[in-house]
This record gives sequence, structure tokens and C-alpha cells, in this order.
Amino acid sequence: MTECLTVVVAAFNEAESLPLLHARLRPVLDGLGINTRVLYVDDGSSDDTWAVMQRLATEDAQVALLRLSRNFGKEIALTAGLDQVHEGAAMILDADAQDPPELIPQFVGKWREGFDNIYGRREARAGETIVKRASASMFYRVMARLSPTPIPEDTGDFRLLSPRALAALRQLRERHRFMKGLFGWVGFNSVEIRYQREARVAGRSKFNFWRLWNFALEGITSFSTIPLRVATYLGLMTAVLAMGYGLFVVAKALLYGDPVAGWPTMMAVILFLGGVQLTALGTIGEYLGRMYLEVKQRPLYLVADWQAAAEPAYAEALSPAEEPLCAR
Ligand code: UDP
Ligand code: MG
Repeated sequence: MTECLTVVVAAFNEAESLPLLHARLRPVLDGLGINTRVLYVDDGSSDDTWAVMQRLATEDAQVALLRLSRNFGKEIALTAGLDQVHEGAAMILDADAQDPPELIPQFVGKWREGFDNIYGRREARAGETIVKRASASMFYRVMARLSPTPIPEDTGDFRLLSPRALAALRQLRERHRFMKGLFGWVGFNSVEIRYQREARVAGRSKFNFWRLWNFALEGITSFSTIPLRVATYLGLMTAVLAMGYGLFVVAKALLYGDPVAGWPTMMAVILFLGGVQLTALGTIGEYLGRMYLEVKQRPLYLVADWQAAAEPAYAEALSPAEEPLCAR
């Protein structure tokens, strides 16, 4: 096992939190006794994040920086970061220190025991509303039902990936990246580490309700085709019901004649069927839209700036793999 660890941090407008995180991270890494480095990924921030990162890199020779050409979202930013790790394991942290860096030695310990995918499982979610907690728990339950890929509950991106787990993850180039699902799909020896999720050290959460809802949709459509099947069964059920009702109407007309009536029933049936059809179409549309974006085969992200770590040994193992915009 190469004893080498890269901490990957995706940051979007985290100018305030980054120095606080780095101050906590540094002593932890020093205490590990292995080769470590930190890769900060600026996900197209509009505040001072990049300047702050550059300052951190000047002060700390083990810091490398990557800047994306615009905001691509956390999942892609993480992918971009992990793509640059060519040696050793990678540890993913949130820039707001919600995933306590002090736990890294525990993750490394598990890695030494031979685990490949060591993920943090939140026991408490400090500073999060009841609504967020309830919706999160519901999401995990729905996901567990719908997805054949196991996705551990209450886990985020806080995890350590062994070199072979990293290599496996790198092969998954889909554009719609539901990272938790991708980590689960990769498999290998997985183990959880329970922790208390802290409140963020500074700034605000970037995930509002609408973003979380889309995130949930992303998860479901990326890992399950069951919603498509639901449309089929819904259709079948309606057809059977309609047939029964049709027989009833015909029998009634034969027995009692057919005075023109039944306008309300007809409206109800038409509207109901219209609704069912539109829902089914929408569901198909969700999948079709994703296929459309997938077949375009655009690159996942574009790199605007790359700054290798000052320490030469680190500079080499951590360098841009996809380099259309930056020289090695
Ligand atoms: N993040 C990112 N790109 C984005 C949104 C968020 O890189 O478009 C990063 C953010 O800087 C932080 C992490 O993703 O390091 C988690 O974001 P946040 O704390 O806002 O989410 P929450 O913890 O509230 O779920
Ligand atoms: Mg956070």
C-alpha cells in the first residue's frame, strides 16, 4: 500500500471557511506520519475563495489548487479533484468543516486495516432544521426501495477512498453524477465511521430546498428505472378499470336504454386519464432528458487554473490528468 493521502476539498464561495478548515486540517495531517497533501478545488466561486486558496498554497507547500472554469456543482467539482489524484488514497472533506478533519486518523486506520471505502455516517446533524432532517431520512428510505445499488443511509461525501476504489470511480464518466450512489456502486470493502456532524464554521449552506429536491430526483433517476415501470403498471391498472367500467356502461345502456347523461363521469374519466398520461410522459421525459445530456459527450468540467503543490514530490503525483486547458 502506498502510504500517501490526498485530501480533496470542493469549495464554492467558501472564502471565510477555508482558512478555518485549513488551520484545523494542518496539525491533523502532520500527526499522520504519512505523505499527505491537500487539493482545494474552486468550483467557480464568485467571492475571494481563489485568492484565499492561493494564499494557503503559498503558506503551505503541500497544497495544490484546481480552479474550474465556472460553477459546475459539488459532485463535478469533487470528480475534478479526484481525477487529479494519481497515487495513494483520497479523503473527501467539506470546505465548511462540517466533516471534522480531526477524524481523518480514524479513516486512515481503517484504510490500513484493508478497507477501500470508508465513509462517515452522521449521528447528529447540528444546525439543520427538522424539515431538512425529515426529508433526508425520507429520501434515503425511498432510495433504498428503488435502487438496486446499496446506498448507505445518512452518509455524505465525507470518506476515504483507497487507490483501487479511486481507480474504479474514475471509470464512471456519467454526466449526471450522484456521488453517493457512485461510491456505493463501486463496492469493495466498505465500512462506516459514525460521527457527529457539526454546524458549518462560516457562511451559508448552498443547498436550498429546491436544490435538494433536484438532487433527490437525480439520485433516483440515475440509479433506478422503477419510475418508468410504475408508468407501465399504472397504465395497465387504468386499462383494466376502464374495461370493467366500459362493460358496466354497455350493460346499463342495453338494460335501461341510453338517455343522454353521464357528462360528469366522462369529464372525470378524461381528466383522470389526461393526468395519468402526462405524469407518465413526464417520467419518460426525465429519463430522456438525461439521455440527451449524456449522449452529447461533453467533458465533465473545464479547468481554468492548476497550481501544483510547491513540494516537488507532491507536484508529480498530483497533476491534471485531463489537460486541454493547462500544461503539465
Ligand atoms: N459546494 C461546491 N459547489 C457547489 C455547492 C457546494 O463545491 O456548487 C461545496 C461547498 O463549498 C461545501 C460542500 O460543497 O464544501 C457542501 O456544501 P454545503 O455546506 O453548502 O452543503 P450542506 O453541508 O449544507 O449540505
Ligand atoms: Mg455544509
